[in-house]
Amino acid sequence: MPFSLLPKLIFHKLTDLTPEFLRQRGIDLLMLDFDNTMLPYTSRIPSQELLSWLDRMRQSGVRLCVVSNSKKDKAARFCREHEIVCITHSKKPTGRGIRQCLEHFHAEPRQTALVGDQIFTDVLGANCAGSTSILVKPIHLHNIWLKLRHGAEQPFIYLARKRRIT
Ligand SMILES: [Mg+2]
Repeated sequence: MPFSLLPKLIFHKLTDLTPEFLRQRGIDLLMLDFDNTMLPYTSRIPSQELLSWLDRMRQSGVRLCVVSNSKKDKAARFCREHEIVCITHSKKPTGRGIRQCLEHFHAEPRQTALVGDQIFTDVLGANCAGSTSILVKPIHLHNIWLKLRHGAEQPFIYLARKRRIT
């Protein structure tokens, strides 16, 4: 699959994605980045909006799998509490965690999407794996390093938006 830093799709936030939108594209397995996509780094408490969105996705039959690079227990604990399959230490953008997820669900890349807030891990990992890459805005850039990284991502976001318009 091609090496590309351009997201296939861009959404403002995770909860803007609907099951209908995914189904129309033949996607029935959604891989989820955790930090700054589902919850900010600075909180363990999910928003009501996120909980309702998870319910709606599950009711629609879209399968969910958290694929996180985190080495902390926060994502795993959240997933246990909310009964979501969780792969941590996933080493995005390498395909390790993504491959584990595809094997777990016996899924082909073309029927999957990976949604996350980072170009250099989530988008690149999804594109290389042949999954549909979906970029969302980070929930909260709480330190200078996250802000700098987000700044470095801007040219790719600009190009991806331009490509969609032209
Ligand atoms: Mg993230």
